[in-house]
Amino acid sequence: LNRRLAEFGTTIFAEMSALAVRTGAINLGQGFPDTDGPEEIREAAVRALRDGRGNQYPPGPGVPELRAAVAAHQQRRYGLSYDPDTEVLVTAGATEAIAAALLGLLEPGDEVVALEPYYDSYAACIAMAGGRRVPVTLRPHEGAFRLDLDELRDAVTDRTRLLLLNTPHNPTGTVLTREELAAIAELAVERDLLVVTDEVYEHLVFDDAEHVPIATFPGMRERTVTIGSAGKTFSFTGWKVGWVTAAPALVTAVRSAKQYLTYVASGPFQYAVAEALALPETYFTAFRDDMRAKRDLLAAGLTEAGFGVHRPAGTYFITTDIRPLGFGDGFAFCRALPERAGVVAIPNAVFYDHREAGAPFVRFAFCKRTAVLEEAVRRLKALA
Ligand code: PMP
Ligand code: GLN
Repeated sequence: LNRRLAEFGTTIFAEMSALAVRTGAINLGQGFPDTDGPEEIREAAVRALRDGRGNQYPPGPGVPELRAAVAAHQQRRYGLSYDPDTEVLVTAGATEAIAAALLGLLEPGDEVVALEPYYDSYAACIAMAGGRRVPVTLRPHEGAFRLDLDELRDAVTDRTRLLLLNTPHNPTGTVLTREELAAIAELAVERDLLVVTDEVYEHLVFDDAEHVPIATFPGMRERTVTIGSAGKTFSFTGWKVGWVTAAPALVTAVRSAKQYLTYVASGPFQYAVAEALALPETYFTAFRDDMRAKRDLLAAGLTEAGFGVHRPAGTYFITTDIRPLGFGDGFAFCRALPERAGVVAIPNAVFYDHREAGAPFVRFAFCKRTAVLEEAVRRLKALA
């Protein structure tokens, strides 16, 4: 293993899902639903396969139907206009979009400011691109993890090339507010930064939280690479269909890297996802309402079990504090949890450079059937 990757080892998701399989524990670790997405969209994939659409290499930028559907989705929901031919790129999941964006946009030594805790592929991809990551820590404040805008401003130097954002935020469930985003956008314009924004949980916002793409703010469209994914929105994480929307020069940069990573991926699934993006609003509302009910169930259960619960405004994850239960080390806690309680969770410390800041936090996924969540809660209550 080379020096760029040496510090990363095996991703926590593989480690914890293997632990769940080995112990037979309920897996609330890795974020994937235990119910597949809509039947009609699965049928659309089968039809594409049967009709011979996408069984051979699809076009490099993605099939025209999907690019058009992505552009229509951004227009309909956010009023953002993107040209499907020059401003949309289909990728092998958001994971490849993140990698290709960083590989295509960073020069060696460039600094990337990212919100900590961060999704684990960010650090590895920044390293592969020869960049330097500069974390800005979200800190617990009145039940949520919040960004300190002064800290963000102080983190930007003359070497900063881009801000890597994620909202709704994995693992904390924080949704950046319109005011926060406006301030970040001003900073990006003032310091002439690019923004890569991971919005894979855009449809999972609850209560009065609102998802606002940073690309909608003044001066941002031309400097922002927005990333979306079908995995989370349509519950098809195995299909690996993601996308990028950005100005032509940025899409070209991302595509330059992407063409040598996978070239293309997921042929028949691209056609199915094009149909999924055109589902009526009722699909998106029902999906969100279902996840909100699951969040409420798990949040109440974890509270009763004695965890400190940070109620998420978005995503399908709950970050908990294990200190009220008398524990302090999330790693040790998660490694022992399958044996002690028959449940798997993720230690948030893996998402931090400042490991000590993340030590007492543990993440549970609630994208599971209600009966599964209820059983997990029963087991976790036995911990106290
Ligand atoms: N970004 C975030 C914040 C995620 O949680 C995930 C996991 N789904 C990804 C990106 C990767 O998405 P995909 O499965 O589409 O590669
Ligand atoms: N995004 C998912 C999570 O945070 C996992 C994706 C993966 O396994 N790489 O749990």
